[in-house]
Amino acid sequence: MSNSPDHPKSSLSARDLAVVWHPCTQMHDHETIPMLAIERAEGAWLQASDGRRYLDAVSSWWTNVFGHRHPRIVAGLKDQLDRLDHIMLAGMTHEPAVALAEQLIRLAPPGLSRVFYADNGSSAIEVALKMSFHYWRNLGRRQRTRFIALTGSYHGETIGALSVTDVPLYRNTYAPLLFEPLLAPSPDAYLRASGETSSQHVARTLGKMRDLLAKHAQEVAAVIVEPLVQCAGGMRMHDAAYLAGLRRLCDEFDVHLIADEIAVGFGRTGTLFACEQAAITPDFLCLSKGLTGGTLPLSAVLTTSAIHAAFYAEYSSGKAFLHSHSYTGNALACRAALETIAIFNDEPVLVANRTLSTHLAARLEALRDHPHVSDVRQTGMIAAVEMVRNRATREEFPANERRALRVYLHGLTRGVILRPLGNVIYFMPPYCVTIDEIDLMVDVAIEGIERAVA
Ligand SMILES: *Cc1c(COP(=O)(O)O)cnc(C)c1O
Repeated sequence: MSNSPDHPKSSLSARDLAVVWHPCTQMHDHETIPMLAIERAEGAWLQASDGRRYLDAVSSWWTNVFGHRHPRIVAGLKDQLDRLDHIMLAGMTHEPAVALAEQLIRLAPPGLSRVFYADNGSSAIEVALKMSFHYWRNLGRRQRTRFIALTGSYHGETIGALSVTDVPLYRNTYAPLLFEPLLAPSPDAYLRASGETSSQHVARTLGKMRDLLAKHAQEVAAVIVEPLVQCAGGMRMHDAAYLAGLRRLCDEFDVHLIADEIAVGFGRTGTLFACEQAAITPDFLCLSKGLTGGTLPLSAVLTTSAIHAAFYAEYSSGKAFLHSHSYTGNALACRAALETIAIFNDEPVLVANRTLSTHLAARLEALRDHPHVSDVRQTGMIAAVEMVRNRATREEFPANERRALRVYLHGLTRGVILRPLGNVIYFMPPYCVTIDEIDLMVDVAIEGIERAVA
């Protein structure tokens, strides 16, 4: 292990590197890349133990919505901790779990009336997949064992969630362990053929989905989709018209639609839930990340009374849904989620975000004609820049050159956390970000790109 000036032996970073194994990380990288030791966080800023401050431009893996340690969430959690910490949710209930279910049902697209809790995003996906499969089984449709996913999709990294994920970086190594989904082409607007309009592209990809359903509907339980933005797949965005068309196809072929709003929920795309922009109700709505404002792990799967009814029967029928996590419906996490929803209720969050996203869009215009940028795109509070070797041909930089790592490292020197996905540099700041902080974030990204392509 290194003993560089950044990592004196007694430092938190050095102690960490001796014992902690980090997620999504080649640990060897930390022989040269600093391990940031964060002591405090407030609003959009992280305070490191060496006194440096970093702007959290990626909302701590997209979990944080109102900034760190929002006073209202902190107060709610302190109050909750004085009453009830955690109980199992089987055979018992508590106010935060019930109130949160009521609130989620009130806010979600109409028709969702049941809430099943889990404790992280991947687990919510496992729940939705199992519940959909089990619904068909309870109806005697045992041949419905498959799922349709979109190319470029990401739904988490547990075995089931990874099975319906199509990002090679995460999937390929573990492929022998996974089940095979049917893949339909993504409506990703970046993949439009030249000269093709958005509506032609939507129609073409829906046509492929129709072909797949026409051939396989009898063996398909559900189609799973990340509405509007395929986040981990590179912040690839699509037209809401695709979702409306997909809902119609799922109805026509009588298969479930699972909306994975784990990343895009809670205002990221400009509406509270992305599905609203297509005026659709999925059969399953998966939520996590922003659900607790970014404070505690929690996830929820919302579904319909029709699906719930297929499990509701005498015990001896054996139809009960069998899935549980020890921390399901944790009282503290539910309370944090209630405070998060209260902030959405009481403050004009989505309206204020429009000003921020408009400013972000205006600032990113500077990159639109950059010789090493092939796309600048944005949906609400998510914006992304595609960094390429050749703008005209969209030729990519070889992955092993790790160009985007230079953007990340430059960000650190300037006090901004940008954590590119492949060669996609993106911005997903907490909603408390200011105009000046957006300027800083974009300036630093532009400087970083200049250095990365040099
Ligand atoms: C992050 C994410 C997940 C997985 O959530 P975890 O809590 O990381 O397991 C699933 N789907 C989408 C769209 C995500 O962005």
